Amino acid sequence: MSDTTFALGGCACGAVRYSLQSPPMFTHCCHCRDCQRQTGSAFVLNALIETDRISLRHGEPAAFRMPTSSGHPHDIYRCVDCGTAVWSDYGGRAGLRFVRVGTLDEPDTVAPDVHIFTRSKLPWIGLPTETPAFEVYYDTQKLWPAAALERLHKVSA
Ligand SMILES: [Zn+2]
Ligand SMILES: [Zn+2]
Repeated sequence: MSDTTFALGGCACGAVRYSLQSPPMFTHCCHCRDCQRQTGSAFVLNALIETDRISLRHGEPAAFRMPTSSGHPHDIYRCVDCGTAVWSDYGGRAGLRFVRVGTLDEPDTVAPDVHIFTRSKLPWIGLPTETPAFEVYYDTQKLWPAAALERLHKVSA
């Protein structure tokens, strides 16, 4: 990768600062009950990106293992000083991170490509008609652009 910076981000106290070296592959807005509980809010915004495209400027987030019903591990990486969640590792895939878009300095840089688990979406949230939305999950092969799929295959290999 080049050393170009796509976006900067960090935790609430400033101990953790990071940059994304490129746009994410794809961005989820997840309305599932787990994400609601873990954020204390209505949904989470997860930007999927290669771990090696996240450059830690300073600080070192620590992994907190979440209980899951799927049996796949979910680690949330948090600033150890202020507890802000900066990204997740879903499924123990070392090469892939789910960055919390709200921790970007300019979170309007990244918009959701899909809404998932809308079956538990809070009823007062209206979704834009131009963004695909699914009751539960979706078919990655059908929805992702070819270039993004290629990136995903590289980190899954
Ligand atoms: Zn912090
Ligand atoms: Zn979720």
